[in-house]
Amino acid sequence: MKSITIAKQEQLPALGQGTWYMGDSAASKKDEIASLRRGVELGLKVIDTAEMYGSGKSERLVGEAIEPIRDEIFLVSKVLPYNASRSGTIEACEQSLKRLGTDHLDLYLLHWPGPNPLSETIGAFEELQKAGKIRYWGVSNFDPNDMAELLSTQGGERVATNQVLYNLTRRGIEWDFLPQSNADDMPIMAYSPIEQARLLKSKGLQKLASDLGITAAQLALAWLLTRKGVLAIPKAGTPAHVEQNAAALEIDLSEETLTELDHLFPGPSGPIPLEIL
Ligand code: NDP
Repeated sequence: MKSITIAKQEQLPALGQGTWYMGDSAASKKDEIASLRRGVELGLKVIDTAEMYGSGKSERLVGEAIEPIRDEIFLVSKVLPYNASRSGTIEACEQSLKRLGTDHLDLYLLHWPGPNPLSETIGAFEELQKAGKIRYWGVSNFDPNDMAELLSTQGGERVATNQVLYNLTRRGIEWDFLPQSNADDMPIMAYSPIEQARLLKSKGLQKLASDLGITAAQLALAWLLTRKGVLAIPKAGTPAHVEQNAAALEIDLSEETLTELDHLFPGPSGPIPLEIL
C-alpha cells in the first residue's frame, strides 16, 4: 500500500478519511458510521476531524464509529485558532477527547493561523504530548511565510505536518511548498482531494477515467497518490464511495495519463498564494 512517513518515524497509508459535514444529519448517520468502519477495514486508518465540524457533531459521530476499533485508528483533530492560547488549546483538546470518547489523539492540528502567538499553541501541544493526550502535533492552512514563522519559533521544528488544500484544480503548492516539504521530510495532508465533488463534473476527467475503466474520483485520488509525501483524506458518506476511493490505492497511472492530466489541469507556472476552503 502507498504510504507516507510522519514525524520521520511512523508509516501511514497515503489515503485516509475526511469527516467534514458528517454527523450533521440524523438520516445519514448509519451510512456515515458504516462508511468510516468500511474504510478502516480497507486500510484507510487515518481519520480526520475537527472541533469546528458541526460544532462537535463530527467528532461525536467519529467517536461512535471508532469506539470498537479505536486501536486501529490514527485519529486527527484540530483546534480552532481562537481557542489556541496555552490554556485554550488544552481545554479544547479535553473537549475533543470527550466527544471522541478516547484518551488521546494521534495528531492534533492548529486549524489555521490565528490571533494567538504560536509559542503559546506550541507550549500547549508540548504539554498535551507530555500528558499522553496527543502523540504528534501539526498545523493546517499555513502558507510558506506562516511555516517560516513557525520554524523560527522555539519547538516549531517538531511540526509533523501541514494540512492544505491540494487537488488537480489546486496545484499551487507544487511551486514552493511541496518541494520544500519533501526536502524537509515532512508529509502534507491534502484536504478536499476531489474539490468537494466539484472536480467530478470535469468532462475531461470523466472521459480520461472512463477510457481507463475507473471513476473520475478514483482518477483524481490516484493522481494525488503519485505525489511524494502526500496523504489525501477524501470524505465519503457511503460505503460504496469509500470502497471506490480505497481501490484508488491499487491504481498505477501511466506517464501518458499523467501527461494528459497535466494538459487538463496544468501545474503552477509561478508562485500562487495558498488557497483555502
Ligand atoms: P472532498 O474533496 O473529500 O469531497 C467530498 C465530497 O465528494 C462529498 O460530497 C462526497 O460525497 C463526494 N465523494 C467522495 N467519494 C466519492 C466517490 N467515490 N464518488 C463520488 N463522490 C464522492 O471534500 P472535503 O472538503 O470533505 O475534504 C476532505 C476532508 O478534508 C474533509 O472532510 C475534512 O476532514 C478535511 N478538510 C480540512 C480542511 C482544513 O481547513 N484543514 C478544509 C476542508 C476539508 P458523499 O459524502 O456522498 O460520499
